Amino acid sequence: FFMALLLKSDSVIETLSLSLSARCLKFKERGIIPKLQVFLVGENPASILYVRNKKKLCEKIGATCEIVRFSESVDPEKFERHILESAQNVEVHGMFVQLPVPKQLSDISFDHLIPPNKDVDGFHAQNIFGVFSGFPDNSYMRPCTPKGILTLLSYYKIPLSGKRVLIIGRSKIVGRPLALLMLHQDATVTMAHSKTANLQELSKNSDIVVAAFGRSEILDETYFRPTGDQTIIDVGINRRSDGKLVGDVKFDAVQSLVGAITPVPGGVGPMTVISLIDNLLIATELQNA
Ligand code: NDP
Repeated sequence: FFMALLLKSDSVIETLSLSLSARCLKFKERGIIPKLQVFLVGENPASILYVRNKKKLCEKIGATCEIVRFSESVDPEKFERHILESAQNVEVHGMFVQLPVPKQLSDISFDHLIPPNKDVDGFHAQNIFGVFSGFPDNSYMRPCTPKGILTLLSYYKIPLSGKRVLIIGRSKIVGRPLALLMLHQDATVTMAHSKTANLQELSKNSDIVVAAFGRSEILDETYFRPTGDQTIIDVGINRRSDGKLVGDVKFDAVQSLVGAITPVPGGVGPMTVISLIDNLLIATELQNA
């Protein structure tokens, strides 16, 4: 049996926070205080927690974060008006709408309302085009979870070039952009989804497996080879029936089989948050170049 390397995010966050603080200070010397504005609708406890974590990290590095709250029943036109005002406001450098939003807002295309150079989530078509084309990292905003995963792999010096990567989950915010970004780093990428056959075989034959499909603890020991050389990135955040937060991987069953694995929580989640803050500084630079 092996002892897998635990790909924890805390030391990565500590290291990155220092350089983010330094970049933030540079802006302050130019009289610019990077400001993030968050639109939060309703009382969803998970959303409130996510937003709080983003604000905390923002303030830790010396940027400001304003949370604009709306009631669950907010009028769509009023909501849209607020977003457009912030889009025009030169003091706001980055903005995003915390998802999910209630039904009456689901038809609004936030990706169009938020200008590409303030789009810290990386959802605007122009930023998606950057992912598609492989634009230089600091020239646009990459979606936060894929960006965070790449940063984590790079911090732990896990190479992608020539590696076989399996990504399970093809959502627009995680699986799909991650596949393209890894392709640009010369990985050989396979995408899996709910219709994929032979998932176990695909998984066993991969060097890196990214679980981003959102089903509690599905990937158990039958999905990995016992050679201790696979890397597992667990993106899933699922609430088990006993209340515990778990990933898509059955951590206890596989950690003695694989070479490296991200914990849940404490792995990909915080990397997503720090990527958002990194995007805020990129946005601030783009607006003040
Ligand atoms: P979506 O629900 O948008 O997409 C899920 C994807 O997984 C779909 O492509 C679906 O396939 C596929 N899928 C579903 N069930 C299976 C299965 N049994 N086998 C193989 N593929 C399957 O998910 P998101 O990308 O939004 O989120 C995925 C997970 O990641 C969730 O647990 C979410 O909470 C978490 N998450 C974590 C973040 C973090 O920072 N750590 C950030 C964002 C999300 P199909 O397309 O065929 O329907």
